[in-house]
Amino acid sequence: MALDAGLRAAILQSVEDNFDRQVAYTQKLVSFASQRGEEFTIQDFIHDDLKARGMKMDRFDMDEAALAAHEGGAPFSATHSRAPIVVGIHHPKAEAGRSLILQHHLDVVPVGPRDMWEHDPYGGAIIGDWMYGRGAGDMKAGAAANVFALEALKRIGLQPAATVYLQSVVEEESTGNGAMQTFLRGYTADAALIPEPEHEKLVRAGLGVLWFSVEVRGIPVHVREMGEGANAIDAAYRLIGSLREIEAKWNAERDQHPECAGEPHPINLNVGIIEGGDWGSSVPAWCRFQVRVAIYPGQKAREKFREIAEHVAAFSRGDRFLAQNPPVLTQNGFNAEGYILEPGSEAETILGAAHEAAFGAPLETFMTAAYLDARVYALYNRIPTLCYGPVSKGIHGFDEAVSLSSVKRVTQAMALFIAEWCGTEPI
Ligand code: ZN
Repeated sequence: MALDAGLRAAILQSVEDNFDRQVAYTQKLVSFASQRGEEFTIQDFIHDDLKARGMKMDRFDMDEAALAAHEGGAPFSATHSRAPIVVGIHHPKAEAGRSLILQHHLDVVPVGPRDMWEHDPYGGAIIGDWMYGRGAGDMKAGAAANVFALEALKRIGLQPAATVYLQSVVEEESTGNGAMQTFLRGYTADAALIPEPEHEKLVRAGLGVLWFSVEVRGIPVHVREMGEGANAIDAAYRLIGSLREIEAKWNAERDQHPECAGEPHPINLNVGIIEGGDWGSSVPAWCRFQVRVAIYPGQKAREKFREIAEHVAAFSRGDRFLAQNPPVLTQNGFNAEGYILEPGSEAETILGAAHEAAFGAPLETFMTAAYLDARVYALYNRIPTLCYGPVSKGIHGFDEAVSLSSVKRVTQAMALFIAEWCGTEPI
């Protein structure tokens, strides 16, 4: 049942009228330096805020053993966050509509060298249409949109006529264990909506992602005896070269994955951190590097990791130094499969209509080469999962920013979607 024109107009106007507050709220979220392991205060803030807005609250820790036992869980490392997961629950007076999960993550990636930013990474400066800051796009604007899409209904005396779970997670940028933990705790609904910065498009497919470290150890000597010493950094370079062979092989298989049609290079292997050695005139005895690589939807994370480990082992057997000092591969983060949003769901149809009402243009879909928590809801909850959100720039880079006009229209589309998917009732 489509929303009548009067209600539609009232919801669009309500988002518009409250947008200044939404912008201030987004700035507040950006002001928390919520890097990995440091999300306690922002999770406290959202907990108290949702409680003040009348939601029933649940706050819980991630369960390492339960996550390790599930195929979608990722191993804990020393840097794994211990911050809690927060869920705000709205119960209607009468359960008449379809239930919904609204999810966001509040962890952000490191800012990198501060002098490479023009704007304060936690300042939330607004210049023209852009709000700047680490996490402004990915995804504190989306978190605020979750809150303010519901608020838009409340301002006109309405609330969802179905249960809504507002799930605020961490560990999205490193393991996906936050979203996994909401699933393990038993949260589910008839659909999920995650407003990641997706350039006003709906994600049709997201890739899986693996994280692992590689460590090489050798014998340290003075550089004048270098012929006898094994240079661990040189060996690491050779190993990275062998990993590039896997990346090329997997990209060559892209035609077997229709969701990646037209993508020239869907599988990206990134060496994100490298460290090693102790002294400029000593042959380095050790080197460690961190790898992130994507896998196609439908492929099993553990099988693909095994494939990598076997490739590296075979390469090492043919290398004079590595054969004596086999590198150690350790999974230390993402162990995630990709997912596909099956076309034709009613949730997608309703979001499409809501988007068109807010933007005056049809909703487009696309494949993203990134990890998304949406995979948890798609693969394990097995519910239609809509990953859709505003225009951003510089996410994971410098001077990250989100387009405020885009955030406003996305929030309008979300509020319309909620009203139609869940139905509405008077407060
Ligand atoms: Zn994100």
